[in-house]
Amino acid sequence: MLWKNNYASKNQFSNYICAMITDLRSDTFTKPSPQMLEAMFTAAVGDDVFGEDPSINELESMAASLFQMEAAIFCPSGTMTNQIAIKCHTQPGDEVVCDKLSHVYIYEAGGIAFNSGCQVKPIAGDRGRLTADDVLEAINPHDIHKAHTALVSLENTANRGGGSCYEFTEILEIRERCLQNNLLLHLDGARLWNALVAKGETPPQYGEVFDSISICLSKGLGAPVGSLLLGKKDFIQKARRVRKVFGGGMRQAGYLAAAGIYALKNNINRLEEDHLHAKQIAEALIKKDFVGKIMPVETNILIFELKESFTAKSFEEELARSGILSIAISPSQVRMVTHLDITPEMVKTLLAVIKAL
Ligand SMILES: *Cc1c(COP(=O)(O)O)cnc(C)c1O
Repeated sequence: MLWKNNYASKNQFSNYICAMITDLRSDTFTKPSPQMLEAMFTAAVGDDVFGEDPSINELESMAASLFQMEAAIFCPSGTMTNQIAIKCHTQPGDEVVCDKLSHVYIYEAGGIAFNSGCQVKPIAGDRGRLTADDVLEAINPHDIHKAHTALVSLENTANRGGGSCYEFTEILEIRERCLQNNLLLHLDGARLWNALVAKGETPPQYGEVFDSISICLSKGLGAPVGSLLLGKKDFIQKARRVRKVFGGGMRQAGYLAAAGIYALKNNINRLEEDHLHAKQIAEALIKKDFVGKIMPVETNILIFELKESFTAKSFEEELARSGILSIAISPSQVRMVTHLDITPEMVKTLLAVIKAL
């Protein structure tokens, strides 16, 4: 056992190994910093199912006031906040309109059908984004043969769109169409902070136009666990019951909420650095013959095609030999995601590795 010769414990050894690895597979791989851990260890906690966890209560009201929305609820995952929102906004047999690359459609294990008994109308949008015309076209007429169109779900940034961002004016147009047609509007804002920073937008802009917003604390913000769902008071009240049904009512989860509070206070402005890193990596890749199309890099996600000497898988394996982890998301596409555990030094090394390939 290698670690026994040089390290006090297996933990210390695996920490050392982790520090050596540049993990660009996702921004979900971040580990809590010592300061975040300190905030977690010293959190005041109570039973949140009884509404008595002071840290969760603080996080929920902090988020609600950031977005100038009425209320918020803390949940274990972004999948859960999305699924709760869809459940609260629909009846079985309804149709949900979203881009065909949406997380709610392709990465939530069929949850829309399973949890809400709804079907999806998947739209081929532009890099994961819909236009107001897309939405208008997708609405079913009042016809007893047709499913009732109830909800539009947008994603910003769009993960499979390579971290693409909406123009806020388009969102306003979509909102208008929804109002005219009695549709509710949900935002999967797992990476909304990245969009806000990239576009110079503010949370209240979004709070004003969406019926519900889901945001993740465990992506670019670097918390280990947790997402928030925001909306009107009665919607969040309903969401509390659905969260219980889904098994997401937690007890002394204030330890987790404390990480979220720390993340909201400290880790938003630095997202700019992640965006810069992603652009630097793209600039190095673009010079290589074996790299095909690179999706425009708007935030912290890079999706690019491999050709000639590499398949996505063989490129992933080649980088892994230098301790750099990426992920093949299709036979020809690789994804890299920058985040707060990716240092400028790591990016420098990666650029040199790419240059040498
Ligand atoms: C990560 C992610 C979610 C939620 O994922 P969880 O792992 O369940 O927290 C939702 N939407 C998008 C776009 C995501 O990238």
